[in-house]
Amino acid sequence: MSDNQLKDTLSLFTQDKTPGKKGSTTTEGEKKATAYWIKCLEIIKDNVSPHIFNTWFEPIKALKWENKQLTVKVPSQFFCEWIEDQYYSLLQKTISQVLGEDAKLLYQIVVDESDSTTDKRTIKLPAFKFPPQPVHGGFAENHTEKRVFTSNLNPKYTFNNFVRGESNQLAYAAGLAISQNPGKTRYNPLVVYGDSGLGKTHLVQGIGNKILQNHKKSKVLYTTSERFTQDFINAIQNNRQNEFINLYRSIDTLIVDDIQFFCGKEKTTDNFFHTFNALHQDGKQLILTSDRPPRDLKDLDERLISRFQWGLIVDIQPPDLEMRMAILQKKSVDEGIELPIEIVEYIAKYVTNSIRELEGTLISLIAKYTFENKSLNLALAKEVVNGISKREPKPVTIDDIKELVAGYYKMPVESLESQSRKHEIALARQMAIYLTKQFTQLSLKSIGAGFSNRDHSTILHSCQTIENYLVTDPSVKSAYEHLHKTLKSK
Ligand code: ADP
Ligand code: MG
Repeated sequence: MSDNQLKDTLSLFTQDKTPGKKGSTTTEGEKKATAYWIKCLEIIKDNVSPHIFNTWFEPIKALKWENKQLTVKVPSQFFCEWIEDQYYSLLQKTISQVLGEDAKLLYQIVVDESDSTTDKRTIKLPAFKFPPQPVHGGFAENHTEKRVFTSNLNPKYTFNNFVRGESNQLAYAAGLAISQNPGKTRYNPLVVYGDSGLGKTHLVQGIGNKILQNHKKSKVLYTTSERFTQDFINAIQNNRQNEFINLYRSIDTLIVDDIQFFCGKEKTTDNFFHTFNALHQDGKQLILTSDRPPRDLKDLDERLISRFQWGLIVDIQPPDLEMRMAILQKKSVDEGIELPIEIVEYIAKYVTNSIRELEGTLISLIAKYTFENKSLNLALAKEVVNGISKREPKPVTIDDIKELVAGYYKMPVESLESQSRKHEIALARQMAIYLTKQFTQLSLKSIGAGFSNRDHSTILHSCQTIENYLVTDPSVKSAYEHLHKTLKSK
């Protein structure tokens, strides 16, 4: 089944207000729909965590089954885009398993079932619907059989709705410069790396969209390393290698997302390497992303990695508290809802890992508010953040950090608090101090108090020492990365 058919299977229905059905009798189609959807839910339940299931699937209700189409009710367009984004293949597999290969799932968006006279709960939907994405980048057949070039860019990713902060400042600035002068800046290639959900795809697609806005005739192509690989394999199988090569070499800006998936694919990488060189030589712009620094891309052609040094390699870091708040505020305004500040603060404080997670929490909150008729207050925010576990999310404490660091360096917690100057103890203590500064809101004075009343200059000195080690000593760096990851996933 092709991507297009897949997309079709889960095509978006239409925004609608379902009229109240009080008193109406359940039709055969409705009964069947409910029965089928229950079967789907059983499969889905086995494939996702209980929290995900309760947040994203349980709220969906079946409406009707007609002409091999199962219509379900979702609370907002964002909700439906979110589940499509995140759970697309699971939904697709489930639907074909329960309803057959050619069945479709349609979403009906219900803005407000309970009371059509209040517009308090009405969400403003985005002004545009997403155009269907072409199967492959480059040339797609249109209805008149003429070959048209498509960029694969999703118009929802723009510079305008990309929130800037310290964590993405440099990447954003480089992107802006490129969008004005693609291929003509020092940033060629631009390689953006960072953990999942921090905005790499959004940023690079934003650059692509901006280039098209500034240079209407420019040929911009967004693809992923996986799609590039698949296109390459198809070209070989269909004896269309020349066409493939010509297509890629005719592009003005090539954006390749998630190049870590090139690792180990020798032939594809080799082809990509030649494409890269040819484009670079012609002064064309290259923009790449990766989930790790290029030097950690094991098994990727060394020649390619060394080419990255020609341009700019820049990372995107997790957002800090202020930026998380700014993102929540911007996104809620975009969805037509004004979030009380205490809700913004609460979510930003506890949802810290990625912007994707932040967005998911917000969409789920708004879904509960509009769909389940709940009031928009702190209790609702807590409910959403806590998920089904009903457990108050605990911020990382200084004691958690001491325990973790002491365990890692195989020493008792008391050593961290001691006055010992032995190198390994001092290092562990400095590491614990550095992590405490990063993971808690404690003042330097309070951190000092947690480490046998050290004064604030000692605390700052410890942080500086670790920062120096991070650049000069790979073993300290890897210890730090391990501890940082563990604390983040707590
Ligand atoms: P990545 O590619 O790094 O995994 P994405 O670009 O897919 O991350 O971002 C995940 C989600 O978070 C997307 O919906 C994106 O729009 C949103 N997002 C990420 N960074 C920002 C930002 N700085 N401002 C606004 N939204 C963002
Ligand atoms: Mg991405």
